[in-house]
Amino acid sequence: MHDIKREQFQLILSVARKSIFASLLIATITLAVLWGIAPEAYLITWYLLLVGVTLFRVIIFPRLEHDLDTVEGKELNRRVWHFTHAALTTATLWGVVPFLVFPAAHTNYQFFIAFVLAGISAGALSSLSALYSVVRSYIVLMLTPISCLLIMEWNQMQVSMGIMIIAYMLFTLSNAKKTHHTITDNIVLRLRGQARERELERLRQEAEQSNLAKSEFLANMSHELRTPMNGVLGASNLLGMSQLDPEQGRLVDIIEQSGKSLLRLLNDLLDFSKIEAGKLELEQRTFDLDEMLDHLYQLLENLTRSKNLVLSIDKSKALSQHIKGDPLRLQQVLLNLLNNAIKFTAQGEVGLKLYLTGEPNHLRIEVSDSGIGIARDKQALLFNKFQQVEASTTRRYGGTGLGLAISKELVGLMGGEIGVESEERKGSCFWFEIPYQPMGVEAAAKPVATKAVDSEEGNSSRSYQILLAEDNKINQKIARAMLAKLGYNHVDIVENGNEAIARIASNHYDAVLMDLQMPECDGLEATRLIRGQTTAIDPSTISPNHEMPIIALTANVMESDIQQCLDAGMNAHISKPINIKQLDATLRQWLSAE
Ligand code: ADP
Repeated sequence: MHDIKREQFQLILSVARKSIFASLLIATITLAVLWGIAPEAYLITWYLLLVGVTLFRVIIFPRLEHDLDTVEGKELNRRVWHFTHAALTTATLWGVVPFLVFPAAHTNYQFFIAFVLAGISAGALSSLSALYSVVRSYIVLMLTPISCLLIMEWNQMQVSMGIMIIAYMLFTLSNAKKTHHTITDNIVLRLRGQARERELERLRQEAEQSNLAKSEFLANMSHELRTPMNGVLGASNLLGMSQLDPEQGRLVDIIEQSGKSLLRLLNDLLDFSKIEAGKLELEQRTFDLDEMLDHLYQLLENLTRSKNLVLSIDKSKALSQHIKGDPLRLQQVLLNLLNNAIKFTAQGEVGLKLYLTGEPNHLRIEVSDSGIGIARDKQALLFNKFQQVEASTTRRYGGTGLGLAISKELVGLMGGEIGVESEERKGSCFWFEIPYQPMGVEAAAKPVATKAVDSEEGNSSRSYQILLAEDNKINQKIARAMLAKLGYNHVDIVENGNEAIARIASNHYDAVLMDLQMPECDGLEATRLIRGQTTAIDPSTISPNHEMPIIALTANVMESDIQQCLDAGMNAHISKPINIKQLDATLRQWLSAE
């Protein structure tokens, strides 16, 4: 309510400010005319009073307008009251004009005065209508005296004139009422619009907050789930390497496959939360495209063969062997599309085709299949998150509906676009186009695929001293068993960063495997202390060790986590669940470097 009154008042003030000069001009001309009828001193008094009130209005304007946006309640009423009284005093001063000169004035002069007063009333209609009580009193005070005086003259012309002025006054009052309603309706609409905008902004901020909270929750969940997954996958991994009868082997295989599916799901969710939080950044490096395609073929060969499908890869000869981009993310998109193609195809073939389009530097990649296809009206929805063609698809083929959404985001981050052409029961062709940056052979970096463990060599005894800092008992067992499998039999285990520091101070270790989240002193803090980056403890208890490799062994797998590890002075990062091949390759790399 006060908001409306404030807006009305603001409007009146802005118009009234502009009309001050015109008021003074009209008053001066009127004085000159009246002086011609009766050159009396009281006319000067009247004029000075009118000018005085007008100047008073000029002086109080800044006070009335000061911080008006925040003024409410009594203070707002007080300001409106001040303005109203100044305005009504002005109206009264104009209203008394006829009394000053009337009986002496010639009819023409009387009409002149009536004309001036009617004109000022018309002006008030546009400038004061925002507050109806003010405009009504203003017009009545201004026009009633002259109309009464004219009627009291009691001759035909003046009586008619007086009646006309009364009629004019009533008409102006009715117009003022309408104008007042129109102005108020506009103000109400504008205020509602502003309130709606504020509400939308509040909702937007709330949505942003909850989105952030959700991403944080997903990242935390991913960490918490990875820790027990490390136990499940690590144990089944080790069990699979031991002597088992065929039935046991089959069961271990089921555990391992289920664990891996769960891990894939976890990775998808984590990727999605990273994308949604805008935290996913792509690498730009040169890699061997042929090698990646070979690797993909090897990964999918068994799956396609088990379904009696033909898998073909057709890379255009015009394409360079080495290109620039993010190999892991490109491979992720390709795997998503190829896995889908195989999943939704019962017979026939699955093909991967790579070629340059007519446009400069445009690499087009197509994954086609002869599977169930997708109805035209469902195709547009496919790339939305959690979207599957229909519930029966989920029941029959499984899946979360995240793969294509992630692929779309990744292709978008690569600066490309993704789409599908499909016909029901005939098959689908998922395609994407990304910028193509060919590179020379010499610029090629390391291959994407990790080297397989040489189990013979893995079983050979290695005399390296390894320190494992890990607080979770199951993870300790898994890591120790994996290290033993790889031939590292001299492993000491501690449960937190402080214990690790104490051990390093008194023993020689060739490498440290360091968990990040541990009680008392976490892995990052311990590494900083070992590297001498910080001296939170007595420096005499440990001298900085810059050579010994420290490898993070953690369920924190975001890029920012990896960067934090490197910044703290660690050499490498192995994510949980621990992959024995990655553990082997990383240890070999850093132990041989040493
Ligand atoms: P998911 O496969 O995990 O459910 P995706 O986002 O990868 O999630 O796929 C979403 C949906 O798109 C699938 O559930 C399926 O209905 C449809 N789809 C994807 N690829 C194909 C394909 N090659 N043939 C038929 N349908 C497909």
